[in-house]
Amino acid sequence: MTPRQLFLDALRRKPTPRPATGSVTSVVTVDLMDAAGASFPTAHTDAAEMAKLAAAGHEVLGFDNVMPLFSVWHESAALGCPVDWGARDRMPDCRGHLAALGEDVTVPKDLLRRPGCAVPLAAIRLLRKRFGEEVAVVGKVFGPWTLGYHVFGVQEFLMGTLLEPDHVRKAMDQLKRVTIEFGRAQVEAGADALCLGDHATRDLCSPEAYRDFLQACHAELVEKIPCPLVLHICGDTADRIGYIRETGVACFHFDSKVPAARARELAGEKLALMGGTSNFEVVRSGTPERVAADVAEKLACRIDVIGPECAVPLDAPSRNLRLIAEEAKRKRG
Ligand SMILES: [Zn+2]
Repeated sequence: MTPRQLFLDALRRKPTPRPATGSVTSVVTVDLMDAAGASFPTAHTDAAEMAKLAAAGHEVLGFDNVMPLFSVWHESAALGCPVDWGARDRMPDCRGHLAALGEDVTVPKDLLRRPGCAVPLAAIRLLRKRFGEEVAVVGKVFGPWTLGYHVFGVQEFLMGTLLEPDHVRKAMDQLKRVTIEFGRAQVEAGADALCLGDHATRDLCSPEAYRDFLQACHAELVEKIPCPLVLHICGDTADRIGYIRETGVACFHFDSKVPAARARELAGEKLALMGGTSNFEVVRSGTPERVAADVAEKLACRIDVIGPECAVPLDAPSRNLRLIAEEAKRKRG
């Protein structure tokens, strides 16, 4: 069975000959850039460099999937956010905002042709060509909650959920079109599945706010984007996994703040689970024994795709990522 088939079967919770391993968030570290011969910041803005660095996720680390959108800023840059693409050892960031809550957000007609979208779309095409049917190619889109932070600023957007919920709903309706348009284009370019990132973490979004503002929206994205979606939310999400499992997303990529056994219990038997391995305790500073014990624990809890919980810190040693993949692949499914 090819790594691609294995990864996609795991997202559907089908039995596989061995556990799947991978991640839908960035697995790039500074030492992986050296191994790949491609590095930040060019890998955010040049399709060939982006594809070359993403390919290392399979070719160097041994994961079953590759994922070329390393930052959270691509579609926001295409919307007009002034993004600083960072450096070799620093992730991109953006300070300015585009609009005030209550103002209309216009989605540019040429959104997909702007570099923020066009570069990752071209990188996905290159990866599809490079790997054929062998390796899963995963794309990434952000939901309207995260896009709301980027367009209006985190504080203004979150205050709006309390003071002007109608403005927030209208903004999310407008921004959702970006998620759908960019997501469909990535599928057409060759993506097998997409990460749906939405930063509805507990510190910034109550479980009631998830239910009232996001649950139906995520279910609609499942309807409108024709591939399996892997929802990624950082932090402690135990209080909303019950809502997430009702949205129809194929898989939830979870943070180590939720113990794996608890995540499995809350997810039930239909929702696949990915990740949950701590970036700080295991990926960055774990001994080989600690890595092996962590993989064994995740498998005992029936986590479907073994890998890091979220974007890997750039200063982590990539050898621990390779070890995670090796450990997972040594086991039977
Ligand atoms: Zn995260």
